[in-house]
Amino acid sequence: MSHFDYQNGVLHAEGVALPAIAETFGTPTYVYSKAQLLDNFDAYANACAGRDALVCYAMKANSNLAILDLLARRGAGFDIVSGGELLRVIAAGGDPKKVIFSGVGKSEAEMRLALEHDILCFNVESIPELHRLDAVAGALGKKARVSLRVNPNVDPKTHPYIATGLKASKFGVAFDDALATYRTAAQLPNLEPVGIDCHIGSQLLDDTPLLEALDRLIELIDTLAAEGIHLHHLDIGGGLGIDYGVAGEDQPVPAGEYLNRVFQRVEAWRAEKHDGRGIKVIFEPGRSIVGNTGVLLTKVEFIKHGEEKNFCIVDAAMNDMARPALYQAWMDMQPVVKRETTGAMFDVVGPICESGDWLARDRELPVEAGDLLVMKTAGAYGMTMASNYNTRGRAAEVIVDGDQVHLVRRREKAEELFALESVIR
Ligand SMILES: *Cc1c(COP(=O)(O)O)cnc(C)c1O
Repeated sequence: MSHFDYQNGVLHAEGVALPAIAETFGTPTYVYSKAQLLDNFDAYANACAGRDALVCYAMKANSNLAILDLLARRGAGFDIVSGGELLRVIAAGGDPKKVIFSGVGKSEAEMRLALEHDILCFNVESIPELHRLDAVAGALGKKARVSLRVNPNVDPKTHPYIATGLKASKFGVAFDDALATYRTAAQLPNLEPVGIDCHIGSQLLDDTPLLEALDRLIELIDTLAAEGIHLHHLDIGGGLGIDYGVAGEDQPVPAGEYLNRVFQRVEAWRAEKHDGRGIKVIFEPGRSIVGNTGVLLTKVEFIKHGEEKNFCIVDAAMNDMARPALYQAWMDMQPVVKRETTGAMFDVVGPICESGDWLARDRELPVEAGDLLVMKTAGAYGMTMASNYNTRGRAAEVIVDGDQVHLVRRREKAEELFALESVIR
Protein backbone atom coordinates (compact mmCIF):
# COMPACT_ATOMS: atom_id res chain seq x y z
CA MET A 1 0.00 0.00 0.00
CA SER A 2 1.25 3.48 -0.87
CA HIS A 3 0.85 6.34 1.56
CA PHE A 4 0.71 8.81 -1.35
CA ASP A 5 -2.77 8.65 -2.92
CA TYR A 6 -5.25 10.79 -4.82
CA GLN A 7 -8.37 11.64 -2.82
CA ASN A 8 -11.06 13.41 -4.87
CA GLY A 9 -8.46 14.15 -7.53
CA VAL A 10 -5.95 15.73 -5.13
CA LEU A 11 -2.71 14.01 -4.19
CA HIS A 12 -2.32 13.39 -0.45
CA ALA A 13 0.57 12.29 1.71
CA GLU A 14 -1.19 10.14 4.31
CA GLY A 15 -4.02 12.43 5.52
CA VAL A 16 -2.64 15.72 4.21
CA ALA A 17 -3.39 17.33 0.82
CA LEU A 18 -0.19 18.42 -0.91
CA PRO A 19 -1.54 21.87 -1.91
CA ALA A 20 -1.87 22.63 1.82
CA ILE A 21 1.81 21.78 2.29
CA ALA A 22 2.81 24.03 -0.62
CA GLU A 23 0.71 26.81 0.88
CA THR A 24 2.34 26.56 4.32
CA PHE A 25 5.92 25.63 3.48
CA GLY A 26 6.37 26.85 -0.09
CA THR A 27 8.05 24.96 -2.94
CA PRO A 28 10.21 23.09 -3.75
CA THR A 29 9.68 20.88 -0.69
CA TYR A 30 10.50 17.27 0.00
CA VAL A 31 7.48 15.57 1.56
CA TYR A 32 8.05 12.28 3.41
CA SER A 33 5.53 9.82 4.81
CA LYS A 34 6.39 8.50 8.25
CA ALA A 35 4.12 5.46 7.81
CA GLN A 36 5.83 4.55 4.51
CA LEU A 37 9.27 4.88 6.11
CA LEU A 38 8.34 2.60 9.00
CA ASP A 39 6.60 0.07 6.71
CA ASN A 40 9.75 -0.17 4.60
CA PHE A 41 12.01 -0.61 7.61
CA ASP A 42 9.65 -3.13 9.19
CA ALA A 43 9.79 -5.30 6.05
CA TYR A 44 13.49 -5.79 6.84
CA ALA A 45 13.10 -5.90 10.62
CA ASN A 46 10.29 -8.48 10.52
CA ALA A 47 12.28 -10.79 8.24
CA CYS A 48 15.20 -10.49 10.71
CA ALA A 49 13.07 -11.17 13.80
CA GLY A 50 14.39 -14.11 15.83
CA ARG A 51 17.55 -14.26 13.74
CA ASP A 52 21.09 -13.06 14.41
CA ALA A 53 20.88 -10.11 12.04
CA LEU A 54 21.24 -6.33 11.93
CA VAL A 55 19.81 -3.77 9.50
CA CYS A 56 22.28 -0.91 9.06
CA TYR A 57 20.43 1.78 7.13
CA ALA A 58 22.76 3.31 4.49
CA MET A 59 22.15 6.88 5.50
CA LYS A 60 23.74 8.51 2.46
CA ALA A 61 20.36 7.83 0.80
CA ASN A 62 18.65 10.30 3.15
CA SER A 63 20.30 11.56 6.31
CA ASN A 64 17.74 13.99 7.75
CA LEU A 65 17.95 13.76 11.55
CA ALA A 66 14.21 13.12 11.89
CA ILE A 67 14.48 10.10 9.60
CA LEU A 68 17.53 8.78 11.46
CA ASP A 69 15.75 9.25 14.78
CA LEU A 70 12.64 7.35 13.63
CA LEU A 71 14.78 4.47 12.36
CA ALA A 72 17.09 4.43 15.40
CA ARG A 73 14.08 4.16 17.69
CA ARG A 74 12.92 1.21 15.56
CA GLY A 75 16.24 -0.54 16.26
CA ALA A 76 18.18 0.33 13.10
CA GLY A 77 21.93 0.44 12.90
CA PHE A 78 23.59 2.70 10.34
CA ASP A 79 25.99 2.33 7.43
CA ILE A 80 28.04 5.54 7.24
CA VAL A 81 30.52 6.80 4.66
CA SER A 82 32.01 9.80 6.50
CA GLY A 83 32.78 11.21 9.92
CA GLY A 84 30.03 13.76 9.33
CA GLU A 85 27.50 10.97 8.98
CA LEU A 86 28.66 9.48 12.30
CA LEU A 87 28.07 12.85 13.98
CA ARG A 88 24.57 12.86 12.48
CA VAL A 89 23.85 9.39 13.92
CA ILE A 90 24.95 10.58 17.36
CA ALA A 91 22.97 13.83 17.06
CA ALA A 92 19.87 11.81 16.17
CA GLY A 93 20.32 9.53 19.20
CA GLY A 94 21.48 6.49 17.21
CA ASP A 95 23.78 3.90 18.74
CA PRO A 96 27.40 4.09 17.46
CA LYS A 97 27.83 0.45 18.46
CA LYS A 98 25.49 -0.42 15.58
CA VAL A 99 27.47 1.63 13.05
CA ILE A 100 29.38 0.22 10.08
CA PHE A 101 31.86 2.56 8.36
CA SER A 102 32.10 2.07 4.57
CA GLY A 103 34.04 3.99 1.92
CA VAL A 104 37.35 3.88 0.03
CA GLY A 105 38.97 7.01 1.44
CA LYS A 106 38.58 7.25 5.23
CA SER A 107 40.82 9.96 6.70
CA GLU A 108 42.84 9.57 9.90
CA ALA A 109 40.52 12.03 11.65
CA GLU A 110 37.47 10.02 10.60
CA MET A 111 39.04 6.78 11.82
CA ARG A 112 39.90 8.38 15.17
CA LEU A 113 36.36 9.72 15.61
CA ALA A 114 34.86 6.32 14.81
CA LEU A 115 37.26 4.50 17.16
CA GLU A 116 36.53 6.93 19.97
CA HIS A 117 32.84 6.10 19.56
CA ASP A 118 33.58 2.36 19.46
CA ILE A 119 31.67 1.66 16.23
CA LEU A 120 30.75 -1.90 15.35
CA CYS A 121 33.07 -2.32 12.36
CA PHE A 122 35.18 -0.66 9.68
CA ASN A 123 34.49 -1.97 6.19
CA VAL A 124 38.02 -1.71 4.81
CA GLU A 125 38.64 -1.50 1.07
CA SER A 126 42.43 -1.72 0.60
CA ILE A 127 45.75 -2.76 2.18
CA PRO A 128 46.93 0.85 2.68
CA GLU A 129 43.68 1.50 4.54
CA LEU A 130 44.41 -1.49 6.82
CA HIS A 131 47.81 -0.03 7.68
CA ARG A 132 46.40 3.42 8.34
CA LEU A 133 43.65 2.04 10.56
CA ASP A 134 46.14 -0.13 12.46
CA ALA A 135 48.33 2.93 13.16
CA VAL A 136 45.41 5.13 14.24
CA ALA A 137 43.99 2.40 16.51
CA GLY A 138 47.44 1.74 17.99
CA ALA A 139 47.93 5.44 18.82
CA LEU A 140 44.60 5.37 20.70
CA GLY A 141 45.43 2.09 22.44
CA LYS A 142 42.43 0.45 20.79
CA LYS A 143 41.73 -2.52 18.57
CA ALA A 144 39.68 -1.83 15.45
CA ARG A 145 37.11 -4.42 14.34
CA VAL A 146 37.42 -4.81 10.58
CA SER A 147 35.65 -6.41 7.69
CA LEU A 148 37.03 -6.47 4.16
CA ARG A 149 34.87 -5.28 1.35
CA VAL A 150 35.31 -8.01 -1.20
CA ASN A 151 34.55 -7.58 -4.82
CA PRO A 152 32.65 -10.74 -5.78
CA ASN A 153 32.75 -9.77 -9.46
CA VAL A 154 29.10 -10.50 -10.19
CA ASP A 155 27.28 -8.36 -12.72
CA PRO A 156 24.40 -6.58 -11.01
CA LYS A 157 22.89 -5.59 -14.39
CA THR A 158 22.21 -2.03 -13.34
CA HIS A 159 23.36 1.44 -14.50
CA PRO A 160 27.20 1.52 -14.76
CA TYR A 161 27.37 4.47 -12.31
CA ILE A 162 25.63 2.44 -9.62
CA ALA A 163 27.36 -0.90 -10.30
CA THR A 164 30.11 -1.24 -7.73
CA GLY A 165 31.16 -4.91 -7.56
CA LEU A 166 32.82 -5.40 -10.94
CA LYS A 167 36.55 -5.94 -11.51
CA ALA A 168 37.06 -2.45 -12.92
CA SER A 169 35.41 -0.77 -9.94
CA LYS A 170 37.27 1.49 -7.49
CA PHE A 171 35.49 -0.29 -4.65
CA GLY A 172 36.54 -3.29 -2.63
CA VAL A 173 39.35 -5.85 -2.64
CA ALA A 174 39.54 -8.25 -5.60
CA PHE A 175 38.13 -11.67 -4.77
CA ASP A 176 41.44 -13.34 -5.61
CA ASP A 177 43.34 -11.00 -3.26
CA ALA A 178 40.95 -11.39 -0.35
CA LEU A 179 42.75 -14.26 1.40
CA ALA A 180 46.14 -12.49 1.36
CA THR A 181 44.52 -9.26 2.53
CA TYR A 182 42.86 -11.05 5.46
CA ARG A 183 46.23 -12.55 6.38
CA THR A 184 47.68 -9.03 6.50
CA ALA A 185 44.77 -7.82 8.62
CA ALA A 186 45.15 -10.76 11.02
CA GLN A 187 48.85 -9.97 11.51
CA LEU A 188 48.41 -6.28 12.27
CA PRO A 189 48.42 -5.88 16.07
CA ASN A 190 45.64 -3.33 16.39
CA LEU A 191 43.12 -4.90 14.03
CA GLU A 192 40.65 -7.68 14.62
CA PRO A 193 39.09 -9.22 11.49
CA VAL A 194 35.47 -9.89 12.47
CA GLY A 195 33.54 -9.82 9.23
CA ILE A 196 33.32 -9.76 5.47
CA ASP A 197 31.21 -7.48 3.32
CA CYS A 198 30.29 -6.56 -0.21
CA HIS A 199 28.01 -4.12 -1.98
CA ILE A 200 27.61 -4.95 -5.63
CA GLY A 201 25.46 -2.10 -6.84
CA SER A 202 22.20 -0.29 -6.46
CA GLN A 203 18.64 -0.43 -7.79
CA LEU A 204 18.79 -4.22 -8.33
CA LEU A 205 15.29 -5.41 -9.21
CA ASP A 206 16.23 -9.07 -9.14
CA ASP A 207 18.05 -10.64 -6.17
CA THR A 208 19.91 -13.28 -8.22
CA PRO A 209 23.19 -11.28 -8.33
CA LEU A 210 22.92 -10.58 -4.59
CA LEU A 211 22.50 -14.28 -3.84
CA GLU A 212 25.45 -15.08 -6.13
CA ALA A 213 27.54 -12.58 -4.17
CA LEU A 214 26.38 -14.23 -0.94
CA ASP A 215 27.61 -17.61 -2.22
CA ARG A 216 31.00 -16.11 -2.98
CA LEU A 217 31.26 -14.58 0.51
CA ILE A 218 30.34 -17.93 2.07
CA GLU A 219 33.04 -19.61 0.00
CA LEU A 220 35.61 -17.13 1.33
CA ILE A 221 34.46 -17.48 4.94
CA ASP A 222 35.07 -21.24 4.67
CA THR A 223 38.51 -20.70 3.12
CA LEU A 224 39.43 -18.26 5.91
CA ALA A 225 38.15 -20.60 8.64
CA ALA A 226 40.46 -23.32 7.28
CA GLU A 227 43.31 -20.84 7.89
CA GLY A 228 42.17 -20.19 11.44
CA ILE A 229 40.56 -16.81 10.65
CA HIS A 230 37.03 -17.12 12.02
CA LEU A 231 34.61 -14.36 11.08
CA HIS A 232 31.56 -13.40 13.14
CA HIS A 233 29.47 -11.57 10.59
CA LEU A 234 28.73 -11.38 6.92
CA ASP A 235 27.44 -8.15 5.44
CA ILE A 236 25.74 -8.46 2.08
CA GLY A 237 25.46 -4.67 1.53
CA GLY A 238 22.42 -2.85 0.20
CA GLY A 239 21.22 -2.45 -3.35
CA LEU A 240 17.66 -3.72 -3.41
CA GLY A 241 15.74 -1.82 -6.08
CA ILE A 242 12.42 -0.01 -5.92
CA ASP A 243 9.58 0.70 -8.31
CA TYR A 244 10.20 4.07 -9.99
CA GLY A 245 7.18 3.54 -12.24
CA VAL A 246 9.24 2.96 -15.41
CA ALA A 247 6.94 1.47 -18.08
CA GLY A 248 7.70 -2.18 -18.86
CA GLU A 249 10.26 -2.56 -16.08
CA ASP A 250 10.12 -5.60 -13.78
CA GLN A 251 8.78 -5.18 -10.27
CA PRO A 252 11.48 -5.27 -7.59
CA VAL A 253 11.71 -8.32 -5.38
CA PRO A 254 10.12 -7.49 -1.99
CA ALA A 255 12.62 -7.10 0.85
CA GLY A 256 11.00 -9.84 2.96
CA GLU A 257 11.34 -12.42 0.16
CA TYR A 258 14.95 -11.50 -0.53
CA LEU A 259 15.91 -11.67 3.15
CA ASN A 260 14.21 -15.03 3.57
CA ARG A 261 16.26 -16.41 0.68
CA VAL A 262 19.45 -15.04 2.27
CA PHE A 263 18.63 -16.61 5.65
CA GLN A 264 17.70 -19.95 4.04
CA ARG A 265 21.11 -20.16 2.39
CA VAL A 266 23.00 -19.05 5.46
CA GLU A 267 21.12 -21.44 7.74
CA ALA A 268 21.58 -24.39 5.35
CA TRP A 269 25.32 -23.66 5.17
CA ARG A 270 25.68 -23.40 8.97
CA ALA A 271 23.76 -26.65 9.47
CA GLU A 272 26.00 -28.43 6.97
CA LYS A 273 29.17 -27.32 8.80
CA HIS A 274 28.16 -28.91 12.14
CA ASP A 275 30.67 -26.68 13.95
CA GLY A 276 28.10 -24.85 16.05
CA ARG A 277 29.48 -21.46 15.02
CA GLY A 278 26.84 -18.86 14.30
CA ILE A 279 27.17 -15.89 12.01
CA LYS A 280 25.43 -12.53 12.15
CA VAL A 281 23.98 -11.32 8.86
CA ILE A 282 24.11 -7.57 8.22
CA PHE A 283 22.14 -5.67 5.56
CA GLU A 284 22.89 -2.11 4.40
CA PRO A 285 19.73 -0.98 2.60
CA GLY A 286 19.38 2.67 1.62
CA ARG A 287 17.10 3.27 -1.36
CA SER A 288 14.63 0.51 -0.43
CA ILE A 289 14.06 2.13 2.99
CA VAL A 290 13.54 5.75 1.90
CA GLY A 291 13.01 5.88 -1.89
CA ASN A 292 9.22 5.65 -2.01
CA THR A 293 8.97 7.47 1.32
CA GLY A 294 9.30 10.88 -0.32
CA VAL A 295 8.08 13.08 -3.15
CA LEU A 296 9.51 16.36 -4.35
CA LEU A 297 6.74 18.96 -4.48
CA THR A 298 7.32 21.72 -7.02
CA LYS A 299 5.41 24.53 -8.72
CA VAL A 300 5.20 25.28 -12.44
CA GLU A 301 6.65 28.75 -13.08
CA PHE A 302 6.18 28.97 -16.83
CA ILE A 303 5.09 26.99 -19.83
CA LYS A 304 7.42 27.69 -22.74
CA HIS A 305 6.80 26.53 -26.28
CA GLY A 306 10.16 26.03 -27.96
CA GLU A 307 10.81 25.31 -31.62
CA GLU A 308 10.99 21.55 -31.18
CA LYS A 309 9.81 20.98 -27.65
CA ASN A 310 7.50 22.29 -24.99
CA PHE A 311 9.08 23.07 -21.67
CA CYS A 312 7.43 22.98 -18.32
CA ILE A 313 9.71 25.16 -16.18
CA VAL A 314 9.38 24.32 -12.49
CA ASP A 315 10.92 25.76 -9.33
CA ALA A 316 12.80 22.53 -8.49
CA ALA A 317 16.02 21.84 -10.35
CA MET A 318 19.04 19.57 -10.69
CA ASN A 319 20.46 21.10 -7.51
CA ASP A 320 17.43 19.70 -5.64
CA MET A 321 17.33 16.33 -7.42
CA ALA A 322 20.45 15.29 -9.32
CA ARG A 323 19.46 11.75 -10.36
CA PRO A 324 18.20 12.60 -13.88
CA ALA A 325 21.26 14.76 -14.68
CA LEU A 326 23.70 12.32 -13.03
CA TYR A 327 22.37 8.93 -14.12
CA GLN A 328 19.79 9.82 -16.78
CA ALA A 329 17.37 8.39 -14.22
CA TRP A 330 13.69 8.26 -15.21
CA MET A 331 11.65 9.87 -12.47
CA ASP A 332 7.86 9.92 -12.50
CA MET A 333 6.29 13.41 -12.60
CA GLN A 334 2.59 13.82 -11.85
CA PRO A 335 0.20 16.70 -11.36
CA VAL A 336 -0.90 17.23 -7.75
CA VAL A 337 -4.44 18.10 -8.85
CA LYS A 338 -5.71 15.82 -11.60
CA ARG A 339 -6.63 17.48 -14.89
CA GLU A 340 -8.13 16.28 -18.19
CA THR A 341 -5.33 15.10 -20.47
CA THR A 342 -4.52 17.42 -23.35
CA GLY A 343 -2.00 15.17 -25.10
CA ALA A 344 0.66 17.90 -24.82
CA MET A 345 4.21 16.66 -24.31
CA PHE A 346 6.74 18.44 -22.11
CA ASP A 347 10.27 18.36 -20.87
CA VAL A 348 10.16 19.28 -17.20
CA VAL A 349 13.16 21.50 -16.49
CA GLY A 350 14.48 23.69 -13.71
CA PRO A 351 15.70 27.30 -13.72
CA ILE A 352 19.43 26.43 -13.59
CA CYS A 353 21.74 27.63 -16.34
CA GLU A 354 22.77 24.17 -17.60
CA SER A 355 21.30 22.07 -20.38
CA GLY A 356 21.68 19.12 -18.00
CA ASP A 357 19.14 20.73 -15.71
CA TRP A 358 16.14 18.57 -16.47
CA LEU A 359 13.92 16.46 -14.26
CA ALA A 360 11.87 14.57 -16.85
CA ARG A 361 11.75 14.39 -20.63
CA ASP A 362 9.03 13.78 -23.18
CA ARG A 363 6.17 13.44 -20.72
CA GLU A 364 2.53 13.81 -21.50
CA LEU A 365 1.39 16.17 -18.76
CA PRO A 366 -1.76 18.23 -18.42
CA VAL A 367 -0.22 21.36 -16.88
CA GLU A 368 -0.57 25.10 -16.73
CA ALA A 369 1.60 27.76 -15.12
CA GLY A 370 0.99 27.92 -11.38
CA ASP A 371 0.11 24.19 -11.09
CA LEU A 372 1.79 21.95 -8.55
CA LEU A 373 3.65 18.83 -9.68
CA VAL A 374 5.34 16.06 -7.75
CA MET A 375 8.34 14.03 -8.64
CA LYS A 376 7.47 10.67 -7.14
CA THR A 377 9.81 8.21 -5.42
CA ALA A 378 12.26 10.99 -4.61
CA GLY A 379 13.10 10.09 -1.01
CA ALA A 380 16.47 8.45 -1.77
CA TYR A 381 19.53 10.27 -3.12
CA GLY A 382 17.45 13.44 -3.46
CA MET A 383 18.07 15.88 -0.64
CA THR A 384 21.39 14.25 0.28
CA MET A 385 22.77 15.06 -3.18
CA ALA A 386 21.31 18.57 -3.22
CA SER A 387 23.68 21.48 -3.74
CA ASN A 388 23.55 25.26 -3.69
CA TYR A 389 24.46 25.65 -7.36
CA ASN A 390 23.24 28.99 -8.74
CA THR A 391 23.03 30.19 -5.10
CA ARG A 392 19.78 28.34 -4.67
CA GLY A 393 18.84 27.55 -1.09
CA ARG A 394 18.08 23.89 -0.62
CA ALA A 395 14.46 22.74 -0.41
CA ALA A 396 12.50 22.44 2.83
CA GLU A 397 11.77 18.93 4.15
CA VAL A 398 8.59 17.89 5.94
CA ILE A 399 7.41 14.60 7.40
CA VAL A 400 3.71 13.81 7.35
CA ASP A 401 2.37 11.69 10.19
CA GLY A 402 -1.35 11.03 9.74
CA ASP A 403 -2.92 14.49 9.52
CA GLN A 404 0.11 16.25 11.04
CA VAL A 405 2.92 17.92 9.07
CA HIS A 406 6.29 18.42 10.76
CA LEU A 407 8.90 20.71 9.27
CA VAL A 408 12.16 18.74 9.69
CA ARG A 409 14.45 21.06 7.74
CA ARG A 410 13.57 24.63 6.96
CA ARG A 411 14.32 26.18 3.61
CA GLU A 412 17.76 27.82 3.38
CA LYS A 413 17.98 31.59 3.05
CA ALA A 414 20.27 33.11 0.42
CA GLU A 415 22.25 35.00 3.10
CA GLU A 416 23.11 31.69 4.77
CA LEU A 417 24.65 30.43 1.56
CA PHE A 418 27.45 32.99 1.59
CA ALA A 419 27.68 33.54 5.36
CA LEU A 420 30.95 31.55 5.56
CA GLU A 421 32.63 33.62 2.85
CA SER A 422 34.67 36.79 3.14
CA VAL A 423 36.18 39.32 0.77
CA ILE A 424 39.86 40.31 0.69
CA ARG A 425 40.72 43.97 0.84
C1 LIG B 1 25.25 3.27 -1.11
C2 LIG B 1 25.61 2.08 -0.33
C3 LIG B 1 24.61 1.26 0.21
C4 LIG B 1 23.14 1.49 -0.03
O1 LIG B 1 22.77 1.18 -1.33
P1 LIG B 1 21.23 1.19 -1.77
O2 LIG B 1 21.27 0.83 -3.20
O3 LIG B 1 20.73 2.59 -1.54
O4 LIG B 1 20.52 0.20 -0.92
C5 LIG B 1 25.00 0.20 1.00
N1 LIG B 1 26.33 -0.07 1.23
C6 LIG B 1 27.29 0.69 0.71
C7 LIG B 1 28.70 0.35 0.99
C8 LIG B 1 26.98 1.78 -0.09
O5 LIG B 1 27.96 2.52 -0.63
